[in-house]
Formats: sequence, structure tokens, C-alpha cells
Amino acid sequence: MRRHLFIFSIFITILILPFSSVYAVKATILPIKPIKILLVPGHDSEVWGAQYGNMKEATMTLALATQIYNILKKDKRFEVYITRDDTSLSGYTKEFADFFTQKDAILAFEENAKKLIQEKISSGNFVTKENPPHHSVTEDISLRLYGFNKWADENKMDAMVHIHFNDYPRPNAWTIGKYKGFVIYFPDGQLPNSKESTGLAADIYTQLHKKYSTSTYPPEAGGLIPDQKLIAIGANGTLDASVRSVLIEYSYIYEKKFRTKSTRLQAYKDMAQLTATGIKNYFK
Ligand SMILES: [Zn+2]
Repeated sequence: MRRHLFIFSIFITILILPFSSVYAVKATILPIKPIKILLVPGHDSEVWGAQYGNMKEATMTLALATQIYNILKKDKRFEVYITRDDTSLSGYTKEFADFFTQKDAILAFEENAKKLIQEKISSGNFVTKENPPHHSVTEDISLRLYGFNKWADENKMDAMVHIHFNDYPRPNAWTIGKYKGFVIYFPDGQLPNSKESTGLAADIYTQLHKKYSTSTYPPEAGGLIPDQKLIAIGANGTLDASVRSVLIEYSYIYEKKFRTKSTRLQAYKDMAQLTATGIKNYFK
């Protein structure tokens, strides 16, 4: 009887061994893939976007984006990138400053995407829609924005989050404007990255809406707006389907919470926390 048991246990060991070793190998060669996030603090030190008093949008977006970066970085599931920091002279991190030297390649990427979308429009496979009004961008800025998209596609980002503060065309930018509230733009349904981006936008919206109300500017009513024209979220199909992209206008730049340093710092802290929670919830 004992002899039988002994032979049986050897038999079982031989049977199990190959499987256990296969699993062991699998575990070592297939590490969990990190979720790659690119944070894009809007504008830069040369072209700083909106301004109210001595507050420049580019400085504010960097302060907020840095806090989101620091929160996400603590979560081991994420691999976080940022386009600007305050350690380099140009404002752009080395990775992006270097990337922008490939100007011709970025231009070719942009031209090719525009050509493909024009073909789709001509053949009736892409229908252009009315979009909310946006500031027109210079050629140089457009090149940077297409550059971010090219980089995000090539480096297989899972998400891009563009951080902005809002303003609207008015005769005197030194006065307090009449609109307030936040808005999140995400890619229109015909763009390849629309489906996944919509979910990400909705999860961030849910968090921000706990504390802030949505934009009172009529073209931004509702606070969740699909768009075809914003390069940042993949205009002309420049972002792959797997690269989710949202552009958040957190509030109008002249809103009361930004007028004193202490309330401004508190606002960055709250906005960063809510955004990071929205991103984490989406990728749960
Ligand atoms: Zn902006």
C-alpha cells in the first residue's frame, strides 16, 4: 500500500511540475503593464495663454499639473510624464525639448493626418460639425501640440490630460468677466480615440462636479463637450484609439478663488486631488 502511495505521489509531482514552472516563468516575463499618463500644463513661458492681473495661465497650469503629477506618481500602477517643469530654462522637460528639434517629422505627421481627414471628408466618411469657439493658435504652438500627439502615440500613452484656465474674448481683459465654472473637452465621436476618452472625461467630471459648477458660458453649457477642432484632444485623427485625451478648463482665470494666494493654493490642491481621483477611478 505504502509503495503504491509513494509511486502515486511521484506521478502527481511529475504531472504538476511542468505547469508550476510554466506559471513561474510567466510571472517573471510578464510584469504588470504600467498605465502611462502624460500631463500637459497648458501654454508655456513664451506664450502664456490667459492673464488676469499678474496671474499668467501658464504659471497656474504648471502649479496644478505638478500637484496632479505628484499624487499620481505615488500610485505604483501609473507611469507619469509631464511636458513642462520649472527646472529647465526653456520650460519644457528635456524629453520634450529634444523631441521638438524634430520639427520636420512633426510637420510631416501633421500634414499627413490633415490629408487623410480631407480624403475622409470628401468621401463622406467624416462629417464636420460646429465646435465651440477656440482661440486660434500660431503655427509654432500648433507644431508643439501636434508634437505632443506624435510623442503620445509613439510612446503608447494610455491618457493625456491637458490642464488649462479659461477666458473668453472681451473688450478689456483687466476687468472681471461674467462667466465662471469648469468644462471638460473630449474628442468627437468620429475621432479614433473618442470612446475611451469619453469615459475618462466623465470620471473626472464626476469628481470636479462635487466641488465646482460647470461653465456658464453658453457654448460650454453642461460642462462635458465633444470637439473636433482642438489639436490637444486629437483633431484630424492624430491620436491613436488607445490614447485617451481630455482638455480641462478648470475655471475662469478671474474667478474669486484665484485672487488671493491662500485661496489659490487651496484651489490647486482641491482640483489636483479631484482630478487624480477621477483618473484613478477610470483606470480601476
Ligand atoms: Zn489655456
